[in-house]
Amino acid sequence: MTATNTVAAADGVNAVKAENKTTRLDALVIGAGVGGLYMLHKLREQGFNVRAVEMGDGVGGTWYWNRYPGARVDVESLEYSFSFSKEIEQEWDWTEIMASQPELERYINFVADRLDLRRDIEFQTKVISMTFDEATDRWLVVTDSGAQFDAQFVIAATGCLSAPLTPQIEGLDSFTGPVLYTNRFPKEGFDFTGLRVGLIGTGSSGVQTIPVVAEQASELFVFQRSAAYTRPAGNRPLAPGELDEAKADYENIRYRQRQTFAGTLRFGAVSVEGVTPPDRRILQTPLEQRIAVVDELGWGAPQAWADVLVDLDANKAGTELYAELIRRNVKDAQTAEALVPHYPMGCKRQIIDTGYFETFNKDHVTLVDLRKTPIERITPNGLQTTDGHYEFDVLYCATGFDAMTGALNRIDIRGRDGKLLRDEWRDGPGSYLGLQVAGFPNLFTITGPGSPSVLANMIMAVEQHVDWIADCLTSLRDSGSRVIEAQAEAQQAWIEHAAALVEGELRASESCNSWYLGANIPGKVRIYMPYMGGLPAYRERCDSIAAAGYAGFAIA
Ligand code: NAP
Repeated sequence: MTATNTVAAADGVNAVKAENKTTRLDALVIGAGVGGLYMLHKLREQGFNVRAVEMGDGVGGTWYWNRYPGARVDVESLEYSFSFSKEIEQEWDWTEIMASQPELERYINFVADRLDLRRDIEFQTKVISMTFDEATDRWLVVTDSGAQFDAQFVIAATGCLSAPLTPQIEGLDSFTGPVLYTNRFPKEGFDFTGLRVGLIGTGSSGVQTIPVVAEQASELFVFQRSAAYTRPAGNRPLAPGELDEAKADYENIRYRQRQTFAGTLRFGAVSVEGVTPPDRRILQTPLEQRIAVVDELGWGAPQAWADVLVDLDANKAGTELYAELIRRNVKDAQTAEALVPHYPMGCKRQIIDTGYFETFNKDHVTLVDLRKTPIERITPNGLQTTDGHYEFDVLYCATGFDAMTGALNRIDIRGRDGKLLRDEWRDGPGSYLGLQVAGFPNLFTITGPGSPSVLANMIMAVEQHVDWIADCLTSLRDSGSRVIEAQAEAQQAWIEHAAALVEGELRASESCNSWYLGANIPGKVRIYMPYMGGLPAYRERCDSIAAAGYAGFAIA
């Protein structure tokens, strides 16, 4: 059923005044990345009248937007792939251990076509506001394309790392050449050949793109504020027969994945199953023996100790081994020292790379250590630090995201009593299980703050959430209920439980500043946002809550 009316809506950027068509739905899914696509498929299969909206003009979410040269997944593609369809598992052929962005985008497009999902997706449609109508228990969703939705349920599959962060640097707008962002890289690509490039940011995206850009650019300046903990990815093409062998064993692989903390058997090329001997402690090991471990394990050495990620002194000793490895790989002593991080290992996301440190041995690549010489401003033709001016043709930002909450906070979401979600989250993103927020009935968040999300293989985390939400909506329908809402007490208990899990952990300590803590956004409240209990325990908790009639949720 559709209706037509005229509305004025604004999100501060996009003001829309248009003839709007309102579509009445059982459920609206926001986002056509891996979470949105699977949610759409699952609800459609279960007979719900459901549609999805997507800001981009194609499917893929993360793998649609982050199309920068060098973009690649950091767990094995055989595991970072949908497990819900045996057919898709068998039909899709991965070519490398860890797929590149183009291959991942092709895979997600293949899934969308295979399940005929596109007919139910409105592309180039950005949600700007959502209001819960307490009289009807339904959401009115307004978009910038003129489409409006009146939906009983809304499922936000808006992603954890999807709201780009524009660095607050004076003069950014004054740069006269092209300004590129890793997280919004041009669809038609960009040829750096023969150009001088100034790149800001050395997180996962920067570390992946730097070696590739260095191959094309005539000169590359890397502006580094925090050095990265990274190690070689060990990626390679799949050997003949390897894929067939894995496909024949898929059931077992998926079963084992589900037993692991992060839903993956390997991070990069390294197994996560029982790699750190519990009795190997760095502080109880003489220096020569630590160095012997570097000789033996290479980049695996800094973390091959039980105490490194839990004790600050042990962590410093681990970083010393990491520094030793950098010195072995980077010829210029000053550059090598600048590449050593000054914060504990494990604070930020571990990165894996292809040829990162070797790139700094190239004559046309210069590392600028912003810890020593901070940025003063961007100029029309380059960047001024406290030490001098760097002239270049292209400014390239790998500056990250407003993680976990950014995408939802950019939408005007009004729940009960007209309360705005971003106001409710001002002191921290409260949520029950990372699935719902008290005061915002019938709204679900896939991989929301308070769920394992970014600490896990995202596809596995997404599948667990989608399955749970779909079962929940089916159960509501079967019982004739039309509202489900997280209870404030249950939410508070969950927040306290999640906080207790990171209490005393280095990653949440004062020495750490990561996007997990919101520390990359000036003024953002400092709270460790993902759930640290691991996927198996989390799944068990969600299942037992469902089995107990959705304990902690009010159903009407
Ligand atoms: P990020 O980890 O937040 O890194 C942003 C970088 O930009 C940091 O080095 C940061 O420095 C720097 N920066 C930001 N603002 C700056 C400023 N004003 N001046 C100077 N430097 C500035 O973002 P990301 O690299 O896009 O990665 C985000 C997350 O996405 C990753 O942690 C990972 O979870 C995911 N990701 C995964 C993959 C993969 O799977 N392979 C690839 C890319 C991204 P500070 O650290 O000092 O703030």
